Amino acid sequence: MKLLIKRGRVIDPAQDLDQTCDVLIDGGVVAEVGASIEAADAEVIGATGLVVCPGLVDMHVHLREPGREDEETIESGARAAIHGGFTSVAAMPNTQPPTEGEEGVKFVLGKAREAGLARVFPIAAVSKGQQGGTLSEIGSAIRAGAVGISDDGYPVAASGLMRRALEYVKMFDRPVMAHCEDPGLSARGVMNEGGPSTMLGLRGMPGASEDVAVIRDIILTRLTGSRLHVCHVSTGTSLEFISRARTSGLKVTCEVTPHHLALTDEAVMTYDTNTKMKPPLRGKGEVAALRKGIEEGLVDAIASDHAPHSPEEKDQEFDLAPFGVIGLETTLGIVLTSLYHDGTVTLPDLVRLLSTNPARILGLPLGSLKPGSPADVTLLDPDAEWEIDPRNFFSKSRNTPFSGWKVKGKAITVIVEGRVLMRDGELKTPGARP
Ligand SMILES: [Zn+2]
Repeated sequence: MKLLIKRGRVIDPAQDLDQTCDVLIDGGVVAEVGASIEAADAEVIGATGLVVCPGLVDMHVHLREPGREDEETIESGARAAIHGGFTSVAAMPNTQPPTEGEEGVKFVLGKAREAGLARVFPIAAVSKGQQGGTLSEIGSAIRAGAVGISDDGYPVAASGLMRRALEYVKMFDRPVMAHCEDPGLSARGVMNEGGPSTMLGLRGMPGASEDVAVIRDIILTRLTGSRLHVCHVSTGTSLEFISRARTSGLKVTCEVTPHHLALTDEAVMTYDTNTKMKPPLRGKGEVAALRKGIEEGLVDAIASDHAPHSPEEKDQEFDLAPFGVIGLETTLGIVLTSLYHDGTVTLPDLVRLLSTNPARILGLPLGSLKPGSPADVTLLDPDAEWEIDPRNFFSKSRNTPFSGWKVKGKAITVIVEGRVLMRDGELKTPGARP
């Protein structure tokens, strides 16, 4: 089965490509990228006015299976990913039980294969049961297909454990994906520490709780010579230290979420529990620093930190509601609207942040349209205007802070390994919309 994508603006930072041309897909791989390709036996997908880029990769999502299948399953999450323009996601291990060892990793891979939607790459736990005590079976997890390890959701509080985790993954050239938080500084906090927390009388978490942990992990990365990926950076200070570490030759990368770029802690003034997440929405100064970091190329990736929660859990008073918001189906619209249309970044920059770099950090043979690459392709319309309505999500959860936002830019057609899974905005295997 051949597919010919005609006359799109093909953007592939991995080969420094940004021009109007055609892409021919044959047998699940990219066969050719060229000015004018003829293939009489191919199904043609017109892409005039659209951006054609390597399939987007969300390197940080929570899929809740096993344990909370009412909130998300691997299938529903992989479907939401396609709807949002993502051909691959990396799934954090904080399920019940957590993803660890060969068995845990194989479970995720098996469910993803059955679903046949977006690719799902498991991330395994750092510590047994994510309890922060002893290392989990990292070697067997990685051999079974885990692309990294993380105790995301919980900080690795013991420095000795973090050191051993970094030493262990070094043998496999995989990253430790760190949720940087010093619980001694953030304990019982429910939002950012600042003006709004004082006004609301809610306990705050200072940016320093992240900065202290980032600096510790950078020091341990220097000690071990290993690879560190800092998840959901939310402060300018963290970003500054990460960028300095990289300049000094350390293998440190980082991601920022769309909500930390598009919202400040003033959003919490509504008491909407969909503004409660970790790290918390920060003040204006930090948001400006993150956006500047994006503009200057200091941020490697944008990741949603898609964290589904049931309405029963989120419909509680602010203090009691769990941390986290979903993002698979809003990331592209929010990022295009608040970073591209306002002139902060170019489209090639965004493709780098949403595909090229996350694929590289996770060591995936994806994120490029070079001939011979797996044919994972996202076609997006950067100018399509739409309103975010959670009722249209394919995720099983609805906890978004962006409900009702009018945004510009969306995924139109999504192809995974040469299979068209969404065409002109319609999913090929929609299942039942929850
Ligand atoms: Zn986290």
